Amino acid sequence: MKIAFIGLGNMGGGMAANLAKAGHDVRAFDLSEEALARAVEAGCSRAASAGEAITGAEAVVTMLPAGRHVASVYETDVFPNAAPGTLLLDCSTIDVATARANIEAATARGLVAVDAPVSGGIAAANAGTLTFMVGGTAEGFARAEPILGLMGKAVIHAGDAGAGQAAKICNNMLLGASMVATCETLALAQKLGLDPQKFFDIASVSSGQCWSLTSYAPLPGVGPTTPADNDYKGGFAAALMLKDLRLAMEAAASVDADVPMGSKARELYEAFVEADKDGRDFSAIIKTLQG
Ligand code: NAD
Repeated sequence: MKIAFIGLGNMGGGMAANLAKAGHDVRAFDLSEEALARAVEAGCSRAASAGEAITGAEAVVTMLPAGRHVASVYETDVFPNAAPGTLLLDCSTIDVATARANIEAATARGLVAVDAPVSGGIAAANAGTLTFMVGGTAEGFARAEPILGLMGKAVIHAGDAGAGQAAKICNNMLLGASMVATCETLALAQKLGLDPQKFFDIASVSSGQCWSLTSYAPLPGVGPTTPADNDYKGGFAAALMLKDLRLAMEAAASVDADVPMGSKARELYEAFVEADKDGRDFSAIIKTLQG
C-alpha cells in the first residue's frame, strides 16, 4: 500500500520505519532534513514536500507536535492533494476539539479520517509495541486497524471522532496524578524511616499498587529498571506530560468537569518543567517532593 507519513520525529521515525519494514511503500516527509534522512535510511522513500507524499497515497499518517500543526497540514497539504476515499490517520496527541474539526472537514471532502493517538514512548514506537486509541466511524476503524497493528501491540476503537484523543488525555491525566501520588508517598515512606525497596515490595502486592509504582518506580535502585536508574534521562519527558495535562484541563473546562487532582498535577508539573533545565523524565518530579 502507498502510505504518506508526515512527521518523522522521535515517535514518527520509528513508526514509519515499521510500516516500511512490513513492505509498504512509505513516502516520508518532514520539515527537518535530519529526520527525513533517518527515515530514508530506514526504508522509506523521500518526498520533496508533504503534497508530493500525499499525491497518489491510499493512506496518510501524521505524527506532529500539536493541533495547530495537524490542522495546517490538513488544510494546506492533505485536502488539496488526497484522492477521495483516502484514509487519514492522525496519531499525534492533540486537543479533542481540533481532532473533531479535522475529521469533520475531511469527511466533508469525501475522505475517511480517524484520530489515533498512542500510549507508549520512543522505545515502543521503535519496537512497534504502541497502544493506539482510535476515534472515528466503524469503516474508518476497520481500515485503520491493519495499518496501526503494524506499529502497535494493541489497537482499540474508543468511539466516534475525537474519542481517541479523549481516551489519551484521560489516561495521561490519571498517569500524571498517580505519578505525583507515588512520588509523594515514597518521599513520605523514606522520611518515616522505611526502606523504599521494602515499601515497594509491600505496596506492590497491596491496595496502593499502581503502574507508576510497580512498572515505573521513580527512585533509583527500587523496583524494575526505570529512567530513575539512568539519572531520569530518556523515558517520557516532563514537558510532554505537562502538554497532556494542559490538554486534559482544556477538555475538562469544555465540559465543566471537576478535576481537582488533575489540576494539582498540572500545577506541579508546570513548576517542575519551568525549573528543570535538563528535560528529565516525568518521574523526576520526586526531587521536588523529597524536599
Ligand atoms: P517530535 O518533535 O520529535 O517530532 C515532530 C516532528 O514533526 C518533527 O520532526 C518536526 O520537524 C515535524 N513537523 C512539524 N511540523 C511539520 C510540518 N508542517 N510538516 C512536516 N513535518 C513537520 O515529537 P514526537 O516526540 O515525535 O511527538 C509527536 C507526537 O506524539 C506529539 O503529538 C506528542 O505529544 C505525541 N507523543 C509523544 C510521545 C513521546 O514519548 N515522545 C509519546 C506519546 C505521544
